[in-house]
Order: sequence, then structure tokens, then C-alpha cells
Amino acid sequence: MGYVLLPPPQASVAVASSADRFAVRRIFCVGRNYAAHAREMGKDPDREPPFFFMKPADTLVESGGTIPYPPETRELHYEMEMVVALGKGGFKVLREAALDLVFGYGCGIDLTRRDLQQKAKDMGRPWDFGKGFDRSAPCAAIHPVADVGHPAKGRIWLSVNGAVKQDADLSELIWPIPDVISILSHSMRLAPGDLIYSGTPAGVGAVKPGDKIAGGVAGLSDIALGIGPPEA
Ligand code: MN
Repeated sequence: MGYVLLPPPQASVAVASSADRFAVRRIFCVGRNYAAHAREMGKDPDREPPFFFMKPADTLVESGGTIPYPPETRELHYEMEMVVALGKGGFKVLREAALDLVFGYGCGIDLTRRDLQQKAKDMGRPWDFGKGFDRSAPCAAIHPVADVGHPAKGRIWLSVNGAVKQDADLSELIWPIPDVISILSHSMRLAPGDLIYSGTPAGVGAVKPGDKIAGGVAGLSDIALGIGPPEA
């Protein structure tokens, strides 16, 4: 038996210091996970449980690339985030066991068409087209836990054309990574290859064609992304 169409290429991301790649199954993202960012988006961060949205796996973009400015937006925003790469699956995972699922960590940018997201919020519509558009998930190399442990503190930052826009510390996460994995696993059966973008600190903002984004998380490979002109 074959397929009537060739299966799509497997989405994947580099693994630091390795020729092997991390095959990506799904991309989960945490909505609000830093108090100062929640406030800048007009929300009270206290005691609100985390919520999630998703991007297709093939929205992943390798660090170092340049993407065309996406269509249908005038407000493309960056959101710097630490990315958790799952090496094992799990369902209803206890907080205490959650880190056992992790293969490694990288840094990524949750690119957002903010105007489309805001319109979706206003109209009670889904966020997919504000968040899960083509090339919306840049991600740098994944560092295995064996090399970097489980980062829980350290600088997370992003700059545009050399000017620092986001500058915070992982310890400011409202919901630490074990909580995020545990809570998510009570709603979805997690699987090897799943990525979790863990939320962005304050300072999100817009970029335009010609801009150069750089960012990083202490101890992990930096990410670089160029914004090119819109596609014809
Ligand atoms: Mn985000």
C-alpha cells in the first residue's frame, strides 16, 4: 500500500553539538506566563491558570534564516520564549515526574500577527491565524538535558537591530516548566517530539521588513532571525 500523495517532510530542529535532529510532532504554546507581560496585555496575572494554543509543526523555522514579512498583518510581533522539547510522552503526569519527559531546551520566538490576534479576542474567535501562520515558530538548536540540566533561572532576552527589547529572568515564570507540562498533560496526551513554547516576558513589540532579531536564554544557543519583504 502506498499514499496517493507523498507524505509531507518531517518537521525538525537542530540538536546542539550533534548531527542528529529533533523530529517535531506538535507545537504547544503557553499563553501568559510572565506577570509583567500579562499586565502589558491588559490582564491581571494573579491566580489565572495557564492556557495553551498551538502552531502546526511545519511553522518551525531554523535559527539564522530570514522570513518574508507575513501577509494580512500590519503588526508582526516577536515573543522571546524558552522552548521545552519532550523526549517522552505522558498523560496526567504528576508535577514531580514532569521533568522526566524532557529531552532538552532551546530558545524560540512565538511570532504573532498581533492585529489578527486582537481582532480574534475581540470577536471571540480562535487565535490560529494570529499565532499559527506560516513560519511563525523560529527555534534555535535544542540542548539535551544531559548538557544543560533543567534551566529554571537565568537571563532571557531579545533585541531588534541591536536594541534590547525584552530582558527578564526564567525565575519570573508564573508557572514553572514542571507545572506547565503537568497541567498540559491533563488535557492532552503528550508525545515524544512535542515542543512547548513556555511564554514570553514583557517588552513584546512590532518588527518590519529589514529588521534583525536576536535573542537568547542563558546557557542555550542564541537565536537569530531576519525579517524580509513580503512575498509577492
Ligand atoms: Mn507567546
